[in-house]
Amino acid sequence: MRIRFWGVRGSIASPGPKTVKYGGNTTCIEVETDEGDHIVLDAGTGIAPLSFTYLSKLPLSCSIFITHTHWDHIQGLPFFVPIFIPNNKIDIYGAFDPISRKSVKDIMSTQMEYCFFPVREAELKAEINYHTLVEKQTVTVGSAKITNILMNHPVLNYGYRIESNGKAMFFTGDNEPLYNIYEPGDDYFAEYENLISFKNGQMYDIIRGVDVLIADAAYTEDEYKIKRGWGHGTIKSTIAMAKAAEVKSLYMTHHEPTRGDDNLEQLYQDALKQYPLSSGTPPFFLAQEGHEIIL
Ligand SMILES: [Zn+2]
Ligand SMILES: [Zn+2]
Repeated sequence: MRIRFWGVRGSIASPGPKTVKYGGNTTCIEVETDEGDHIVLDAGTGIAPLSFTYLSKLPLSCSIFITHTHWDHIQGLPFFVPIFIPNNKIDIYGAFDPISRKSVKDIMSTQMEYCFFPVREAELKAEINYHTLVEKQTVTVGSAKITNILMNHPVLNYGYRIESNGKAMFFTGDNEPLYNIYEPGDDYFAEYENLISFKNGQMYDIIRGVDVLIADAAYTEDEYKIKRGWGHGTIKSTIAMAKAAEVKSLYMTHHEPTRGDDNLEQLYQDALKQYPLSSGTPPFFLAQEGHEIIL
């Protein structure tokens, strides 16, 4: 299995001299199995440069799994060049959002309406199939099995485990660790604690033992104090997740758009001191655009 980061930025693309090293594109991760099955996690702006590499692999068969439909995870899809080319087959998977009562197809079609984009969905030349997933559904793409689990974010967000030939990875999409909405001493505090540990147990069961965990670590602990409830994790929370799920390595992603390379480097060096590998922390890294992991 080969994994490559095409976009590691959260919220909005942030090109410029301060983000040359880690990259400015929003979320997109390419996964290719040993058999050559093409899987893409999220369609942020990073999917546009990825799409050019697919032009040497036509006709393309490709499966795109959307964690959730916030802009930074779908905005690149209209610029995914293979959708304009006949004989390509693109499968797009995602959730049904119970609040908006819209499926991934509804939301993607809206994004292609003529006031947003010059080419309408009906005019796309590739065969495009939408698939609405239910929680914990496993789908097969070639040699890969992809299983989702509900994460914690303001819109319904699936994390995905991809497994192939005995290797596995998990991507959280956007995720904030569950926290108790009651204060200690409140009537429902203990009950809510039980709910959290039940939900976390289910999540860890899906993530358990993966070779690579890619997780939302958007905030520092200080930032999180004023951004609790915004739906994102921290370096500390992703390390806790990695330990609880006994993963082999951790890549932190969804970097804040205001965070330059120097700032990210500093945060990483501080984290290496604070969470030494000798304390049982799995090896951890900052996700970097263009970086490739071979499993
Ligand atoms: Zn995001
Ligand atoms: Zn989001």
